[in-house]
Amino acid sequence: MTALRPPRPGAEADEVAQVAAAAPDWDSLATVARSCVACPELAATRQHVVVGDIPTSGRPLVALVGEAPGATEDATGRPFVGRSGALLDQLLAEAGLDRGETAVLNVVKCRPPGNRTPKAPEVARCSGWLRRQLELLDPPAIVALGLSAAKWFLGPRTVLARAREQGPLPWNGRRLYVTYHPSAAIRFGPNGAPRAALAADLRQVAHVVGKREGP
Ligand code: URA
Repeated sequence: MTALRPPRPGAEADEVAQVAAAAPDWDSLATVARSCVACPELAATRQHVVVGDIPTSGRPLVALVGEAPGATEDATGRPFVGRSGALLDQLLAEAGLDRGETAVLNVVKCRPPGNRTPKAPEVARCSGWLRRQLELLDPPAIVALGLSAAKWFLGPRTVLARAREQGPLPWNGRRLYVTYHPSAAIRFGPNGAPRAALAADLRQVAHVVGKREGP
């Protein structure tokens, strides 16, 4: 008789990575990602898998990577469309960047219940999607918004303020900018340091991708 064993830790992450790597283009990836059940709790509680937004050209000037969908994103199926998204859109526009020319992605594609921080195994299981998205989109610059995204790119010991000061950092042949999450900018208020830092970083990115003359 075949013994029933619990799945090896990491087996779902490997499976997602394999399926994602086999996706030949964005639409195929989006279709398979929408039926992902690798994280049982997230799959049972989500309304939508929030795959991400990309420009119609399929070639973004920059990819913005957040943590995970919140309530509004889960309800609509689109990333950064709640309060954080409104601030992000405003700061992008002030920097001279059009959101329509960017890719807006998340480390984790399903809303964690109560907006808790995604757990390490959830991040691991979801990683194949983001990795393949970045390969397919091939953006020259990437902006990691907040600590979860910064850790995804740079490892679990990452300290956000230090990584930000060191930036831009090379990551797989691209420029990686680490900055504050819009929710931190909201939390510390319009005159707080995170908002000023996020706005300055987006201006720098706009300059580097040729959308702005001066810093
Ligand atoms: N916060 C995130 O990190 N991502 C979203 O899509 C919305 C809020």
